[in-house]
Amino acid sequence: MRALTLVADRRLELVDVPPPAAPGPREVQIRIKAVALNHIDLWGFRGMAFAKRKLPLVVGAEASGEIVAVGPDVSEFNSGDRVVMYGALTCGTCQACRQGRDNLCENVQGILGFHLDGFSRELVNMPARLTIPVPGTVSFRDAACAPIAFSTVEHMLFDNAKLEPGETILVHAGGSGIGTVAIMMANAIGCTVITTVGDDAKADKARAIGADHVINYRTDRFEHMVRKITAKKGVDVVFEHVGAETFNGSLLCLKRGGRLVTCGATSGPVTTFNLMQLFQQQYRIFGSFGSSMRNVRDSLAKMANGMLPVIDTEVPIAEFERGLQRLEGRQVFGKVVVNF
Ligand SMILES: [Zn+2]
Repeated sequence: MRALTLVADRRLELVDVPPPAAPGPREVQIRIKAVALNHIDLWGFRGMAFAKRKLPLVVGAEASGEIVAVGPDVSEFNSGDRVVMYGALTCGTCQACRQGRDNLCENVQGILGFHLDGFSRELVNMPARLTIPVPGTVSFRDAACAPIAFSTVEHMLFDNAKLEPGETILVHAGGSGIGTVAIMMANAIGCTVITTVGDDAKADKARAIGADHVINYRTDRFEHMVRKITAKKGVDVVFEHVGAETFNGSLLCLKRGGRLVTCGATSGPVTTFNLMQLFQQQYRIFGSFGSSMRNVRDSLAKMANGMLPVIDTEVPIAEFERGLQRLEGRQVFGKVVVNF
């Protein structure tokens, strides 16, 4: 069967590999239909010196597929079921797992497609407990955006930042995959959404999916514009993932007691900030990574209710790298999906 593997930094190869064995006890075998790209794919592609992983590695961290075989003791799934897969191999038995805080598993083996072989292959065996059914109305393409893009945002906004209806939120990089999701999720509960984009063509698209105010960060300072838009009050929540370029500006945008939630550092991981400002202004800062299984289910339910991912581009598996280049060049508006 075909598998897309990373053989060295910035070198992908579509290779022929043996198919997996029949699914073992409590496992299902899944035929992959669509893989969605995220920034973690780009980190993996560029190479990360300190990450514990071995090459070659099958890429692809977020995907959907169809069950083609079930192992012994699997009663909750049948062949033909449409599913998505949780993106990390958790243990299922530690306290965090038992409490449904899957992304804090104490014995996690790694992230699929980054530390361990991922989903860009024709067939994969997964533990049934990490497999989640896709509601009938949601396409494979859209469902592929649930396990990371939708779920990460769901976890950031609602579990961590505890975003409430009526609040004001600044969403950075509103054209990115997670940026588009954050705009839609905040808009859906009646928040005022301010977002930043890098060109004017993206501004109209951001408004179309629910942004109330759009700032072009290349022509205006976003801190200044947020102050103006909120009549100097600041926002309740900042949705961060840009990192070094924006972090201090993001803190300045918060009102007293405001919350900043971050899941990324695409412009660089290191910054300095003023601790006096942190405690005097009573800011709350949340680091967020991944999501729980419940977040994935809730994301799929939102899709079934009509909140569909914004798709920037669909590419065939052989053009996975072209998809990554679109992410790297900040060209996207929405998600890049790879069809297997
Ligand atoms: Zn665990």
